Amino acid sequence: MNSTETPGDAESGTDTAQISIDDVSKVYSSETSPVEALRDVSFGVERGEFVSIVGPSGSGKSTIFRIVAGLEAATEGAVFVDGEPVTEPGPDRGMVFQDDALFPWRTVAENVAYGLEEVGAPDGYTVAERVEYCLDLVDLPDKADAYPKELSGGQRQRVGIARALAVDPPILLMDEPFGSVDARTKASLHRGLLNIWTETRKTICFVTHDIEEAVYLSDRIVVFSGAPGTVLNIVSVDIDRPRNRTGEAFTDIKGQVLSYFEDEEAE
Ligand code: ADP
Repeated sequence: MNSTETPGDAESGTDTAQISIDDVSKVYSSETSPVEALRDVSFGVERGEFVSIVGPSGSGKSTIFRIVAGLEAATEGAVFVDGEPVTEPGPDRGMVFQDDALFPWRTVAENVAYGLEEVGAPDGYTVAERVEYCLDLVDLPDKADAYPKELSGGQRQRVGIARALAVDPPILLMDEPFGSVDARTKASLHRGLLNIWTETRKTICFVTHDIEEAVYLSDRIVVFSGAPGTVLNIVSVDIDRPRNRTGEAFTDIKGQVLSYFEDEEAE
């Protein structure tokens, strides 16, 4: 895209979006042969919306996550946040990864405070108040002085979320954040995340290969094809929350998402 064009286009519904992904393609150069990870990916995420990206392994989900985060550059196309092209990570986009990557030598409170050390606490807060608020949000008020090794996997992921929220970014980008926790913990993390989303009204862009997780959490699901990743379809999940995972509407949408993969395999 050249500088005279405006971000977003009516066809892909990205013209009013807070995050606008415009015709993004990505080819990794490698020592053997180039790897085409994404081809012409376009979609938008509205302010305050919860959007998941689902797709099989290798479909470029982490790649699009990294491009939106500003950790990786697109080969073609561009990502815009609030109309500005993304060129690097910024305080407007908090990130949460599968591996919580907490500093083991820091306490939970010190880990959450990490992002505030450079930019300071958001308006109206001291650092200590902001840390306390974020630990309350993730339901870990009593763990401020614990070290990561003293926590369960699920608790560590909660600290990772608290750390991402500390600087109060309008956008939360999450890459398979619950990929390595057991099913029961996952369900509790899902409820916790939806509570946080309801309370803070963040825009959430959530990458997962777990269709059920995407249906439980999202307003819309962007379904990626196998490699190279393209957008097969965008599915709206019009079910009231909290959602019943065994309800008819829920299973219908799960089936609908799955059918896109099956159609693709049959081709
Ligand atoms: P997903 O998250 O859906 O599993 P990825 O975005 O991790 O998919 O990867 C998409 C494709 O790009 C895969 O074929 C992967 O091997 C390749 N890939 C990812 N990162 C790199 C990289 N840094 N260098 C070369 N190839 C890469």
